[in-house]
Amino acid sequence: MDLPGQLSSLLRAGAVLTGDDMSAYLQDWWGRQTGSALCVTLPKTPEDVAAIVRACADAGHAIVPQGGRTGLTGAGVPGAGDRPPVILSLSQMRRIRKIDAINGSIDVDAGCVLSDVQSAAICVNRLFPVSLGAEGSCQIGGIISTNAGGTNVLRYGTTRENVLGLEVVLPDGTIWNGMKSLRKDNAGYALRHMFIGAEGTLGIITGAVLKLHPLPTAHATAWVGVSDPELALRLLNRLQSCCGERLTTFELMNAEQLEGVIAYRPTVPSPIDAAWHLLIELADISGPELLSEMLLASLEAAMSAGEILDAAIAQNGTQRDNFRALRHGTADANRHIGHVLSADISVSVSSVPRFLTAASAAVRTLYPEAQIVVVSHMGDGNVHFAVRFSHGDWGSYDDPAGTVIAIRTIVNDCADALGGSFSAEHGIGRKLIDELRKRTDQAGYQSMHRLKDAFDPRGIMNPGCVLGEQDQVS
Ligand SMILES: Cc1cc2nc3c(=O)[nH]c(=O)nc-3n(C[C@H](O)[C@H](O)[C@H](O)COP(=O)(O)OP(=O)(O)OC[C@H]3O[C@@H](n4cnc5c(N)ncnc54)[C@H](O)[C@@H]3O)c2cc1C
Repeated sequence: MDLPGQLSSLLRAGAVLTGDDMSAYLQDWWGRQTGSALCVTLPKTPEDVAAIVRACADAGHAIVPQGGRTGLTGAGVPGAGDRPPVILSLSQMRRIRKIDAINGSIDVDAGCVLSDVQSAAICVNRLFPVSLGAEGSCQIGGIISTNAGGTNVLRYGTTRENVLGLEVVLPDGTIWNGMKSLRKDNAGYALRHMFIGAEGTLGIITGAVLKLHPLPTAHATAWVGVSDPELALRLLNRLQSCCGERLTTFELMNAEQLEGVIAYRPTVPSPIDAAWHLLIELADISGPELLSEMLLASLEAAMSAGEILDAAIAQNGTQRDNFRALRHGTADANRHIGHVLSADISVSVSSVPRFLTAASAAVRTLYPEAQIVVVSHMGDGNVHFAVRFSHGDWGSYDDPAGTVIAIRTIVNDCADALGGSFSAEHGIGRKLIDELRKRTDQAGYQSMHRLKDAFDPRGIMNPGCVLGEQDQVS
C-alpha cells in the first residue's frame, strides 16, 4: 500500500486529502509561495498524530506541520521539491481541555485558534495576552512554534513567556507528555523551550498549557502624532516612568503605513495628521477614570514639552477597537497595496530611531522610486521595515530575486551594525535560512545543527525550514 493509503487506514474517513482537495493547504499567506504535497492529513487526537508520524518515519518521508498558515516566512507550507512531503494540519484539534482560573492556566489542543483561547480565558475573568493581527486564524501550535510576539509583549512577554507546558509528538512517533501547569519546575532541562520557536523542525506540538493573567477591567487607549521617532522614544520613557507596568502597548507607524491601511480599509478614519503615529494603551484592574486621567496627564505634559504634535484618546470601546484595527490592519494592507518586501528586525529599544535613519537612507540611495513603510512594536525594539514598489516599477526590474536579496542585505546590515537581529518575531522559515547561516555565530549555528540531529536524526520534520537541507556541520 502507498503512504496515503496506509495513512487512510490509520485515520477516520475523510482525514487524508489528495489531489485538488489539498489546494488550500499549499499556499502561504502572502499568496507568493505554492508548494506540493503527497497528501494532507487531518488528525483529531495526539494518538492520531503519533500514528501519522510513525508511518512517515518508517517510510523515511518528510512531514510539514501546519497551523493556520498565517506565518510570514513560508514555514508552514511545503516547497516545490521532488519528493513532496505529508502535510500534518492541526486544524481538527481544537479542544479546550481544562481551565484553572486560580492557577492561572489553560490546557488546550494545539489546533485551537488564538482568539478562541482569548475568549475562553475571558469567560473565567482571565487574560491570555498574546495578541496579533492574525489572531482570528492562527493556532496555538503555530504561535508557539514561531514564538510569536504581537502588540502586548511590552508587558506580558512573547509567547515563550506564556507557555507553562507542552505535549509533543517526537520525530519517531513517541508522545512526550510535558503538560505541566507549574510556575516552578527545575527537574532537569526545560524541554518545552526546545520546541518553542522551532518552527516544527523538532516535533509536532499537540497540546499546550498556557499562562493566564488577571483580566484588566480598564483600558485607556490613545492615538498620538509625533514628528519623528526620537520624540516617540522620549514619550515611551515618560510613560514608563509615570505608568510603569500599566503600559501594555507602544506601537509606531509612519504616515505611509497609515495611508496604506486607510486606503485598504476606508471605513476606519485617520485619527490625526502627522508624519509618525503611535498606538498607546494602558491597562489595569483599577477604575477606568484613574487610567484615563493618568494617560491624559502624561500626554499633556508631553505636549507642553514639545514631544508630541496631537493626540486622540478613545472615548469608548468602538473608538478603541478602531484604533487597534488600524494597527492590526497593517499586514493585510501591505499584502494588497503594491509589491512589498518586508524585514522583521530588532535592535535595542533606544536604537530604533538610529536604525530607521540608517536603513531609510541606505534604501533611498539605491531605490529612490520605492516607498518606505514602517510599522514597529517600538516598545520591544522590533521594526517591520518594508520597502514598497508600485506594481509597474516591480514588473520592470530585470532581476527581482536579486532585488529582494539586495534590500534584505541592506536592511539587515543596518540592524547588525547596531547589535540587532534579522529575525525578531516571524522566525526563519524557508525565507531566511541563508541569513541565519550568514549572520549567526558559528558555534551557535553548529549547536543548532547538533540539536536538530539529536531530535530528528532522519531529518523528516519540516526539512528546508530554519536550517538548510544541504548544510553540513563541520
Ligand atoms: C495579519 C498578520 C499579522 C501578524 N502579526 C504578527 C505579530 O504581530 N507578531 C508576530 O510575532 N507574528 C505575527 N504574524 C505572523 C505569525 O507568525 C503568525 O500569525 C502565527 O504565529 C503563525 O501561526 P499559524 O497557526 O498560522 O502557523 P503556520 O503559519 O501554519 O505555521 C508556522 C510555523 O509553525 C509550525 N507549526 C504550526 N503548528 C505547529 C504545531 N502544532 N507543531 C509544530 N509546528 C507547528 C509550522 O510548521 C511553521 O513552521 C502575523 C501574521 C499575519 C498574517
